Amino acid sequence: MTMDQGGEFYRRLGLKRVINGASWLTMLGGSIMPPPVVKAMEDASRWFVDLYELNRKAGEVIARFTGAEAGMVTAGAASGMLLEAAACMTGTDPAKVHKLPDTTGMKNEIVIHRAQLVGYVHSFRAAGARIVEIGNASGTQEWELGEAINEKTAAVAYVFSARQGGVIPFPRAVEIAHSRGVPVIVDASAMLPPPENLTRFISMGADMVTFSGGKGIMGPQSTGILAGRKELIEAAMMNAAPNSDAIGRAAKVCKEEIAGIITALELFVDTDHDAVLAGWRAQCEHIVNALKGIPGIRAELAEAQPELDEAASTHPRALIYFDKSWKGPGEKEVVQRLKDGDPSIRVGSAGFTGGIAIHPVCLQKGEEELIARRLREILTGKKS
Ligand SMILES: *Cc1c(COP(=O)(O)O)cnc(C)c1O
Repeated sequence: MTMDQGGEFYRRLGLKRVINGASWLTMLGGSIMPPPVVKAMEDASRWFVDLYELNRKAGEVIARFTGAEAGMVTAGAASGMLLEAAACMTGTDPAKVHKLPDTTGMKNEIVIHRAQLVGYVHSFRAAGARIVEIGNASGTQEWELGEAINEKTAAVAYVFSARQGGVIPFPRAVEIAHSRGVPVIVDASAMLPPPENLTRFISMGADMVTFSGGKGIMGPQSTGILAGRKELIEAAMMNAAPNSDAIGRAAKVCKEEIAGIITALELFVDTDHDAVLAGWRAQCEHIVNALKGIPGIRAELAEAQPELDEAASTHPRALIYFDKSWKGPGEKEVVQRLKDGDPSIRVGSAGFTGGIAIHPVCLQKGEEELIARRLREILTGKKS
């Protein structure tokens, strides 16, 4: 796909094109769907179909690719988290399904590391769950997890996202939870690629795992997948659309979206991810090379480190640091000027210590050249 295609609608509304060097952010539209995904959605739009049957069939595909007993399509990973919590609290009891978010008489506590408290945990609370936090930034003792589990515990939640200081390793957390008869629910929203993660958390004992459909899988931005144990997926389905009397009704997916995410998932599994990674690396290298020799600016290529199990290091990045000797515009101003241009260029942050990170995962072909040129202009004050 070239960068000059599309955009008629956005132009009509007077919107600027965004070059997304900031990764799969909902705020910027998630990912760009490959043409076969869009085609599958268009094709699916021509028939009526039974939505219960459709999501069951889609769930069979998800189960096959994740190695789980069952699966379903959700309205994003956040909706997957809502349904994880709901399923663990209600089971398949219709009276409890009807009652949510009132959890009177149910197990309603979800235990989670304080270090994993991402904003999306709101989705657990939206189902009616109470969050019980354990540990702190410097560490978590295994007894803290054991201690936090009681007769009110519905699940232990585990989030794979930013780097996690001092958390109990996932396999140990699973062991402790299971020894107390409590399921483990996982948010692995942005952990694809690497494709191995599709099966990895399930094979390590997770009872339910959710991934975003609109990030690395490149399906519709408003979708996600949920995989897990049969009776828990059954419970999640009871709490989901198309049922009207269900907490998950406010997060429905349509037939076209289900066709889109399943097609995207099939494509994702068939993709040569090494080649994709090499392409991303080359885009980062181009940017890093273009910024060589600017005094006071340090540009580096950060290699992919999927073994760290953190979302940002699953792919290579171009990192730009401002040394103490730097005399030009500061980091904030550079980011603002990138954003204010047309097209608007959005970038990420290299970390707590400052610096700019350019994530290549959403860059269309050739956009790395535009970013490199624009950055050089801003940093050197010279048109190139
Ligand atoms: C993006 C993200 C989510 C939400 O995923 P959606 O598919 O946008 O609903 C949840 N958790 C984490 C860690 C994320 O990065």
